[in-house]
Amino acid sequence: MSRVARPATKISRSISNSWRIKGGIRITEKILISRCLLGERVRYDAQSKACAHPLVRHWQAQGRLIGCCPEVMGGLPTPRPAAELSGGDGISVLNSRARVLDPSGVDHSAAFLRGAEAVLELAQCHAIRFALLKANSPSCSNREIYDGRFTGKLVTGIGVTTALLQEHDIQVFNEHQIDGLNTALQQ
Ligand code: SF4
Repeated sequence: MSRVARPATKISRSISNSWRIKGGIRITEKILISRCLLGERVRYDAQSKACAHPLVRHWQAQGRLIGCCPEVMGGLPTPRPAAELSGGDGISVLNSRARVLDPSGVDHSAAFLRGAEAVLELAQCHAIRFALLKANSPSCSNREIYDGRFTGKLVTGIGVTTALLQEHDIQVFNEHQIDGLNTALQQ
């Protein structure tokens, strides 16, 4: 699988709160976010999971949020079959040791990997260091995923896109960790 190289653009560390310096100009740091958390109906069942946290609304009003949906960006339709990781988590999918399957056993790994690459490229274009992605998703989760048997049981593991972002030093938070993300932004 081809991996997108991190751009050579030099960007300084945060100087205060969430401001950074790029090319001598003070800019507001952007945050990558799952589009379903913004209320967009991009989930497999064509529903959303809008996040009503006031900080998300505040960041959105500031124009700081960069929306993404790795599964849509990978070319999958909406609605689409549910998918779970089989044989490992997102790290294992990146290393071809696990697959993304739907309940019929159809392998969607290639689309999930395409989507992860597209999200990484988007994040790098905006010099993103932090992402707020949907919990428990086979693409976006940063902590738990479904166990691959479509029984509703969660196990420890991360999604495919999160695995690729973390591999490139982008910190991923979920919708239950927004205060932690806010703290990280200010360091
Ligand atoms: Fe939301 Fe991520 Fe699933 Fe897209 S892939 S619907 S952004 S959880």
